[in-house]
Amino acid sequence: MAKRKQILFAAFEAAPFVKTGGLGDVAGSLPGAVNSPEYDVRVILPLLSAIPEEYKAKMKFVTEYSVPLGWRQSYCGLFRMRKSGITYYFIDNEYYFKRDNVYGEFDDAERIAFFSKAILETILHVDTLRPDIIHCNDWHTALTPVFLHEHFISNELFRNIKVVFTIHNLKFQGKYDKNIIGDVLGLQGTPAENQLLDGDAVNFLKGAVIYSDAVTTVSPTYAENICTPEYGEGLEELFKSVRYKLSGIVNGIDSRDFDPKTDKGIVQKYSLDTIEKKQKNKAALQEELGLPVNPDVPLFAMVTRMTAQKGMDLVTYLLPQMAERDMQIAILGTGDKDYEDEVRLAAKVYPEKISARIMFDEKLSRRFYAGADCFIMPSIFEPCGLAQMISMRYGTLPIVRKTGGLMDTVDGYWDYGENATGFSFNDPDANGLRVTIDQAITMWYNDHEMWNRLQRNGMMKDFSWSKSAEVYKRLYDDMVDGK
Ligand code: ADP
Repeated sequence: MAKRKQILFAAFEAAPFVKTGGLGDVAGSLPGAVNSPEYDVRVILPLLSAIPEEYKAKMKFVTEYSVPLGWRQSYCGLFRMRKSGITYYFIDNEYYFKRDNVYGEFDDAERIAFFSKAILETILHVDTLRPDIIHCNDWHTALTPVFLHEHFISNELFRNIKVVFTIHNLKFQGKYDKNIIGDVLGLQGTPAENQLLDGDAVNFLKGAVIYSDAVTTVSPTYAENICTPEYGEGLEELFKSVRYKLSGIVNGIDSRDFDPKTDKGIVQKYSLDTIEKKQKNKAALQEELGLPVNPDVPLFAMVTRMTAQKGMDLVTYLLPQMAERDMQIAILGTGDKDYEDEVRLAAKVYPEKISARIMFDEKLSRRFYAGADCFIMPSIFEPCGLAQMISMRYGTLPIVRKTGGLMDTVDGYWDYGENATGFSFNDPDANGLRVTIDQAITMWYNDHEMWNRLQRNGMMKDFSWSKSAEVYKRLYDDMVDGK
């Protein structure tokens, strides 16, 4: 039998420890889907203060060492925990990680650089940690392949390590004033200095794209998208030049966790065979949100970060028009203050039609997915998107824009007819969304049979990690065995 491959999965957040969005979901579920007798997957995370005490209490101290970063020598404590067959390592440094926010601190560049370096330093201090692959995720771990090549590769322990870098959201690249190259990163005068430069800035993600052995995005369509000026966020030429190592692997969801048949967080469990019971969840949600409890009006939901990416301009523009229609709208989200205010205001002006919860509440989100008829997700760009998959799993038809992962996961009614799993539209403007919402309303009122069919199509689709985990395994194999 071939040797068991070791994968060190590095991320800044992972459910259930810390989750602020899709990255947390993926880092919380993909490792478990790959971990097997052939693949020893371990996860490395920062020990953030946002991690609940119940988990911290279960962690065991392993060792401590110092991590050199520029002129600094910083303390690094290593904690360890086993959960569902996976070993999790936590990098402790209270100065960097005992903070109010996961991201958005004044010294993010330094916090991120410390974490990226500590990942490699840890390998020097843990005998059983001998990864064949380090799988880095997003700009928070983008410096790991850069440091690997600059500072560690001459050490025998590191020579054969391959790096996979996965882009979950290209919008966030880690761009800083170039003067941090020496002071914070300690890379002044190295070959990496030039590679990290992006105009007048240093760009962490750019470094990862150059120094990683494989670059993936979280859906095939998005891997194509980012090679164009429309979606490339200024790096499209770079992506075109690394096409040979660029691919897209669609995310899965934890389909055991997100299952209306077993979800303890919803009012009434239901399945494909008892889809009519979903109705109870709708009534409960309407009541909870202060909307008229009425089974005879369609309830449209959003669970979202309130940013331009998620199509919030389209939604806020359309809210008054939607309020004129025979529909209800429930929005759960947080984000840019302007959008939050607009949504809050619309809910105040149309209390019978629109309800808003401006908060991040994972438990409430489940009641949204279970209680709504339709889910609106008109993203301007979308690396993959999980919310649309979760809604289909709960028999809630998504309305999406045809972009990135939304295109790879939702089969729109206009294109797929009775085999569809939702509705989709092309142009990133309010008109496309309005027409599609109208189409959904019309079907909901007039063609229950078709609506039910689309619900069933979505609920029957396999959104689990099983297929995509196989694709990742093949990628790991190619990199390790093909060397
Ligand atoms: P992104 O990662 O770009 O925010 P995704 O669709 O990939 O978008 O993942 C978003 C995840 O975060 C989903 O699991 C969604 O349910 C959850 N989520 C987003 N906003 C909220 C919120 N306000 N409350 C609870 N969960 C949320």
